[in-house]
Amino acid sequence: MHTPAYLISFEQHQYLNPLAGPDFRELFESSPGLYLVLYPDLTIVAVTDAYLTATMTIREEIIGHGIFEIFPDNPADLNADGVSNLRASLNRALATKKTDTMAVQKYDIRKPASEGGEFEVRYWSPFNVPILDEKMEVKYIVHRVEDVTEYVNQKAEESRQKILTERLRHLTDTMEVELMQRGRELQNLNNALEEANRELKIKTDELQRSNDELSRFAAIASHDIKAPFRNVGGYLELIKKKVEGIPDEELKKAFEKISSARYRISILLDDLLKFSRVASSSESFDKVDLNEILANVLKDLEYNIKEKNARIFVPAQMPVVQGYSFQLGQLFQNLIANGLKFQNGQEPVIDINVQQKDGFYQFSVRDNGIGIDSRYFNKIFVMFERLHDQEEYAGTGLGLNICKRAVDNHHGKIWLESTPGQGTTFYFTLPE
Ligand code: ADP
Repeated sequence: MHTPAYLISFEQHQYLNPLAGPDFRELFESSPGLYLVLYPDLTIVAVTDAYLTATMTIREEIIGHGIFEIFPDNPADLNADGVSNLRASLNRALATKKTDTMAVQKYDIRKPASEGGEFEVRYWSPFNVPILDEKMEVKYIVHRVEDVTEYVNQKAEESRQKILTERLRHLTDTMEVELMQRGRELQNLNNALEEANRELKIKTDELQRSNDELSRFAAIASHDIKAPFRNVGGYLELIKKKVEGIPDEELKKAFEKISSARYRISILLDDLLKFSRVASSSESFDKVDLNEILANVLKDLEYNIKEKNARIFVPAQMPVVQGYSFQLGQLFQNLIANGLKFQNGQEPVIDINVQQKDGFYQFSVRDNGIGIDSRYFNKIFVMFERLHDQEEYAGTGLGLNICKRAVDNHHGKIWLESTPGQGTTFYFTLPE
């Protein structure tokens, strides 16, 4: 659809007598529309006040100047195409003599020099109307614009918001999916964990049961053997008195062997009883003062210590821990007794130490004895495992197993360092 060309001449109206009719120039200039009138050579002829206001220009400064001299492209906008688009549209209007409507243009406007002369972003909806004279030649072009900056900005903001909302929705969807996936993974993990816990509980219960059974068996066995064994001892004492006067070397030796076997059996029975107490879960968890425990252990070993002329170094202050008093006593007793026992003739020196670490205590019992080859570090903690025969070093092979069980029952660790011929250090940890 084409807007018809208007047949108006400004010059004609200039000479009109004011009394004869309206002042068309004044009327035109105060029109609310944004109009700029150009000669075909694109020089500005007339302009409305509204146009001047919208473009921050002054009539006297623009009349007579070329439109592109007054309205150049914003040099800071490398993509600015306002000038070239407008020129093309004006040329089309001149050539076709028909109104040329332009798409919305970004055409920035320079602020007056008094306000810094910077360019301001503006959007316009322009159209160019050729005004023809009687000979149907283009006499003027009316360049009419509408400032659509606010609308464009609003639209841009709307689309920005839309994009943002879209992005947000996408993000929310993705997060929702991820959350669901994570949730499902977590659920699976939880199920697996529950299953593992169930299995662990079954295994722990089984272990506890077998420990309890072992402990009961050891207790009953040692207890049941003890009664007849005491009888054997009583009769042995009786026989001893009878054979004492008989000068028979073979009989004497046999008798000595029986005596030492009897002694070993009594030690074994004692150890079995101790083992049964450590292996069972009957003892209660209490506050245990390790100063007291150590003092009692050293008292029990007093004869042994004196006999061997041993020196034992203990910390000035031992901690108080939560634990099983009997088991902790056995732990220190067995380690110190082993330090006294596994010697090669030298006077035993045993050094006990404790260090506070992060949430637990680390104890050490060091001796200057025969040492242990690292090949046997694991083996020695197994029940009845011994590295020497009875003639060399007497024992039952239960001591370190008792230690290991005692430390395990306190959720600690036990290990050792050793140099054969120089000595051994046992370490263990207990929770604070
Ligand atoms: P036992 O002392 O009754 O033989 P243990 O279970 O206490 O049994 O020790 C197992 C073995 O570990 C011992 O027979 C010995 O060979 C070795 N052993 C334990 N403690 C020491 C030590 N402090 N120095 C050298 N060897 C040791």
